[in-house]
Formats: sequence, C-alpha cells, structure tokens
Amino acid sequence: MKDDDVQDADRKIHPTPQLDQLEDGPWPSFVTGLKRLRDEGAPNNQKMMNDLLGQLNHSYENRTGYWKGGTVSVFGYGGGIIPRFSEVADKFPESKEFHTLRVMPPAGYHYTTDILRQLCDIWERHGSGLVAFHGQSGDIMFQGCTSENTQKAFDEFNEIGFDLGGAGPALRTSMSCVGHARCEQSCYDEVRAHRSIINKLLDEMHRPALPYKFKFKFSGCANDCVNAIHRADFAVIGTWRDDIKIDQEKVKEHIKEKGRRYTTDTVLKMCPTRAISLNDDDTLEIDNKSCVRCMHCINVMTKALSPGDDRGVSIMIGGKRALKIGDLMGIMIKPFMKLETDEDFEELEDFAERVVEFFADNALEHERVGETIDRIGLPAFLEALEIDVDPNMVNHPRTSCYVRTDDFDEEAAKWFERKAAEKSAGAAAE
Ligand code: SF4
Repeated sequence: MKDDDVQDADRKIHPTPQLDQLEDGPWPSFVTGLKRLRDEGAPNNQKMMNDLLGQLNHSYENRTGYWKGGTVSVFGYGGGIIPRFSEVADKFPESKEFHTLRVMPPAGYHYTTDILRQLCDIWERHGSGLVAFHGQSGDIMFQGCTSENTQKAFDEFNEIGFDLGGAGPALRTSMSCVGHARCEQSCYDEVRAHRSIINKLLDEMHRPALPYKFKFKFSGCANDCVNAIHRADFAVIGTWRDDIKIDQEKVKEHIKEKGRRYTTDTVLKMCPTRAISLNDDDTLEIDNKSCVRCMHCINVMTKALSPGDDRGVSIMIGGKRALKIGDLMGIMIKPFMKLETDEDFEELEDFAERVVEFFADNALEHERVGETIDRIGLPAFLEALEIDVDPNMVNHPRTSCYVRTDDFDEEAAKWFERKAAEKSAGAAAE
C-alpha cells in the first residue's frame, strides 16, 4: 500500500504529510508503528488505523485535538476504560470510537510469550491491534476499541486471568520492578507485596470513590526502577539495616582490572556521604553508620558489594508529579520494616488500608495525599495514623531530619506536650 492518496477497493489511504515528518531522524517513531498496523494488520485493524492516522494528521494541520471523553464501562466496573469519541467522525468514521482498556499487568511484568500472543490475538479480534506495553500508569494500554466491542474484549482478557486497572479518582494500577526473580539487589518479595496490597484494596480500583488518584509502587532496592519515590502516593522501597557485604577478593579483582584511580573516581568520590575508603592493599572499608543505602557503590562494583542480610522496606508517602503544590518526593514515614513472614505482609496490608482510608476521609477533591499532608501538616498525619515520630523520618539524608537526632527525646516530648495543650485548649473552647 502506498502513502499517497490512492483509491483502494473499499477505502482511501489518507495522506499524512505532517506525520511523515515525525519519522525523520534516527529514533523510533510511533507513526511508523501506526502505519505498519495500517498496512499489515488484520483487515479491521487496517481500516481503523488508516482513519486514526487521517484524524491525527488533520489535528496537526489545524493544531486542534478532536477527541472528547464520555462514559463507557463494562458490567460491574466503574473504571478502567478511557472513552474517546471523535469529533470529526464524518471524515474518519472507522476510528470514531477509539476507547482504551487499561489492563493490569502481572506484578514485576513477568509474562510468558504464550500469554503475550493470546493478549495480542484478543486485541486483534476486538480492537485496533494497537497495544502499549506499558503506559505511564503501568497498565497494558489496549488502545482503540469501539463501544460495542469493549465488553467482548474485557470478557476474553478476564478469561485468561487479566483484570482492568484503575482510572479516575480511584486506586490506580500498581507497578513493581522485575524484583527478586531476576535481580540480585532485591531486598524483599516485591511481587507478593504488590499483589497482596492490590488484591486487598481492589474495590477501590474498580469502583472509584476516592477524592483523587492513589498509587502504590514497589521497588526492590533504592535504585527504584519503577520511580516509586516520586511517582507513588505510597512507595515501598527495599533497603537493609546491617552492613553492606564486601567480597574483598572481588574488590581486588575490580581494582586490578579498572585501576585505583578509576575506583576512587567512580566509587569513593561518588559516595554521597564519603563513607568508603580504599586501603593500601586494595581492600575497601565502609563506614556503615554513615552509609545512606543509596546503592551507588553496589551498582558500580556489583560483584564485590551487595546489600546486607537484614533486609526489609522503607515506606514513603506522598510522591507525585506537578499539581497544586508542584512535584513532591515521598516523605519517609516508615524508615524500616521487615517484610518476610505472613504477619509482616499482613502488617503492610493493614497500614496500606489505613493510609487509603485516611486519604478517603480527609483529602479534598482533586488532591493527592502528599498535598493533604502539606495542607494539614505532617504531625497531624502521623497522629491520625498513630505513627510515632522517628528521627529517621528524613526529608533528605542526614541533612534535614524532621526531628533533630541529638535531642530527639526532648523534641518529641515538646511535640507531645504541644499537642496535648492544643487538644485541651480545643476542648475548653467547645
Ligand atoms: Fe556510599 Fe551509597 Fe555505597 Fe552507602 S550505598 S556506601 S551511601 S555509595
């Protein structure tokens, strides 16, 4: 099929001069992908893609978007479908309805090729054939479905074990890194934590009733491969509290191969707290009290260094992208928590549930939990969740504890006194 205005047996290929420019250059282009579907996809996919490309080019010409939302859902669900209706359906009828199904991926993104084929086959039958693994939200984005086919596609996905994800003011689809199945730095069972929390709170995902979106993300270590700290309202990130493990023989091998200068420049000098020193005999020493578990040295000397054995998680609350008060990183709320036994996982689920309940009860419309904390103050948040103030609740490692560590007891006592005084003053006023 050619790109020019050729009359096909039953349709015409829309010319796309504006879009064609997006294929220039060395980088991959989504336009090339759309054209491939238009030219080589299943017959119903080809028609839809042709009109989609036509509408997109029309948008570029007029600098106007022509999609509007609406309401489309499947039985029993209040979210998970992103409806899109075209405002130029008379010109591009095949893509007049182009809804997206957000489908939850398996925790850790572990698929078999067989499952991937089944997913693609279902989407070829009922949708446009266009799939994004994975969208910003972490979902598999099945893009381009008519209202009529939405239920059919969902039923088939459901039959092979997949479920819709979150959209709107609801618990959103969660993400976890590839984790302990394939990564030696993993500090806990991310897949289990991910699944148990989402399964426990699934109603909040399928029946949107929260003030705004709420996201959980799970990273196995501080490399934070799913960007939990700045994109999740509730970030669970693996860490350890004993000493970094050092294999001195591997350290020597590393230095023999790369040189002392290289090791000094790329490891010692890059340690944010200067906790590492190199001995004359090419062995390493780490001042573990100063180490902030940033993972840098472990990433560079993967064979020689590894996380300690006393592993667990840190929980940060309130990370998000720009909205009312700008970007926020998660605030350290639980500096360390073991996550090994059934009881540990139950404790995590229970804590997650309490945070979501707090959010549901206290957040304003269209407000993320980080903004709620900013509005009401961290002490009120900690008090509501019955979390004791801990000097490890830091904003930035070693520089900005919420409570000064040298006289923590005194500071904490003052804080409790203040709260008690406020409470009794409030009671007296009533
Ligand atoms: Fe330094 Fe980070 Fe290595 Fe700790 S993990 S010793 S802070 S580089």
